[in-house]
Amino acid sequence: MKKCKNTFIIVLVFLLLAGCTQDEKQKNKNTSASKDLGAEPQKVINLPPPNESDYSQKMGSQNSEEFNLMNTGTTMTDAQLKTYLYNKFQTPKLWGEFLPGIMTSLNTANKYIALTFDACGGPNGSGYDSQLIYYLRQQNIPATLFINSRWIDSNYNTFMALSKIPLFEIENHGTQHRPLSMNGREAWGIKGTQNVNEITDEVLNNDRKIKRLIGRTPYFFRSGTAYYDETGIRVAKEIGEQPVNYNVLGDAGATFKKEQVRDALFKAAPGSIVLMHMNHPEGETFEGLKLAIPELKNRGFKFVRLADIQLK
Ligand SMILES: [Zn+2]
Repeated sequence: MKKCKNTFIIVLVFLLLAGCTQDEKQKNKNTSASKDLGAEPQKVINLPPPNESDYSQKMGSQNSEEFNLMNTGTTMTDAQLKTYLYNKFQTPKLWGEFLPGIMTSLNTANKYIALTFDACGGPNGSGYDSQLIYYLRQQNIPATLFINSRWIDSNYNTFMALSKIPLFEIENHGTQHRPLSMNGREAWGIKGTQNVNEITDEVLNNDRKIKRLIGRTPYFFRSGTAYYDETGIRVAKEIGEQPVNYNVLGDAGATFKKEQVRDALFKAAPGSIVLMHMNHPEGETFEGLKLAIPELKNRGFKFVRLADIQLK
């Protein structure tokens, strides 16, 4: 019995040693293979034409991967390859309010108009146009309110009251009211976010705040200044919010005179999204709206919230 046990131990030790030897052989093989190859070879890839408008055009189509790295033709060092890939994937190519992926009108041919009102917050944007809101309620006109975190902080009770009025839909107007950018690009003098983390914070922090306060996650997002690059749009969508801008500029940051607001609203067509503001009671947005609404009703338009049409 004892002899048998010893034999077993010897076999076990032999098997273990054999295993080690096998590993050693594999290691040696790898080392000699890399020695045989010598220095790392230069990569041969196909350089794209340096044509931005070509890129922008293709961004609009389904196929945005327009260049095929597997094609051969141009030799570049690893450093050049890194620069090329960085520029291709890290640097934004697009910037604006009407980029592919941003909703600017409703998906309907019916005579519906979505009035959207931003509340931007901050030192010059935390006012509340109570007359405007009272008028909408009195006229039974539904509207979408894009609210920024800072405005909520300055108008907490008003925000909570607005969120309980079924006529109004609360959506996300960002946390610090920054344009969504990968490299700090400015719009209207406001510095944009500088990387994916900052884009995420700008969208997500106010998303979470609104969810906490009203019990529902926003469906739609509008960045501070309404500017984005292509990554900003993609990140907002990943978080689950559809970026929304407009096709009728209703009050130009509440700087329009009432006649300008009225004339802007008269340009609305079936499916229009109108951008106005509810945070500048000193402006003439309300006065202009009051001039336009009866005529728009006469023309057969009905007013809707974004979610009424887009989430059906
Ligand atoms: Zn704003």
